[in-house]
Amino acid sequence: MFDLGDLGRLSARDMLKLTHVFVTHTHMDHFIGFDTLLRIMLGRDKDLYLFGPPGFLRQVEGKLSGYTWNMVSNYTNKFNIIANEVHHDTILTRRYACKDRFRPQEGPQSYPFDGTLLKESSFSVHGTLLDHHTECLGLSLTENFYINIKKNALDDMGLPVGPWLKKFKDAIYNNADPEEEITVVSEKHGRIIQEKRYPLMYLMKNIATISKGQKISYITDVRGSEENIKKIVSLVKDSDTLFIEATFLDKDREMAKRKYHLTAKQAGLIAKNAMAKHIELFHFSPRYRGRESELVQEAHNAFCGRQR
Ligand SMILES: [Zn+2]
Ligand SMILES: [Zn+2]
Repeated sequence: MFDLGDLGRLSARDMLKLTHVFVTHTHMDHFIGFDTLLRIMLGRDKDLYLFGPPGFLRQVEGKLSGYTWNMVSNYTNKFNIIANEVHHDTILTRRYACKDRFRPQEGPQSYPFDGTLLKESSFSVHGTLLDHHTECLGLSLTENFYINIKKNALDDMGLPVGPWLKKFKDAIYNNADPEEEITVVSEKHGRIIQEKRYPLMYLMKNIATISKGQKISYITDVRGSEENIKKIVSLVKDSDTLFIEATFLDKDREMAKRKYHLTAKQAGLIAKNAMAKHIELFHFSPRYRGRESELVQEAHNAFCGRQR
């Protein structure tokens, strides 16, 4: 997840799926959801990885030390927060275990940072530090490729859907030997009723289509300076979807400059220069309440080249 704003519209079920949260910066509107997430995850077996800009470890510690944890030693589950503070060329990592009342464990440990925040077999997340009068992370997620399962082919072959499909996908993402056998398990009421084995290559040919992955980028709370814009365009280049703030109208650009935010026109021009395929605008200033369509229109005009 990118940013921890008001999580009121997310279900507990969705929040519990989270493993990694990337926080652009800790202004309240981007970090106020921390407590909601923490509360949902207490009492679960879980490692939650958080990423944020310089100062982030101290701010996570500040949040955690704001509560009384005298009862957690009775918990039998293991819930850990692993916070990562991103600097220009290093990441500082520190662990906070619920059973230790979230006291900081030894460290922080330092790792080199070259722009990649997370690398999984199926996707990676990249980030860059931008200027918002404080440092703010620009973020981008790139899928390696996308595996689509052909439901009809499964039906034709009499194969069930189930957890084996995840193992099948992981084998592809991990470049497994094409001859490797995948076990297809059929279950009924939690009981295994049949197991069949197929070579990975055979299943890839028959039940999957593999297409180019998507690139999704997220830029908010940044000054429209030349340096920022250069860094953003390079990070979000060729995004399929670019989520970008459009806080002010261009006629109020002096205010945007003073408040370290983009105007809608700047957002549209960034998307155009980065050759994004689609833009999603957000973070509208409340001064335009009821007139949000003007911000959207201005950004789209710049994006589609009707303004320079
Ligand atoms: Zn904000
Ligand atoms: Zn901000």
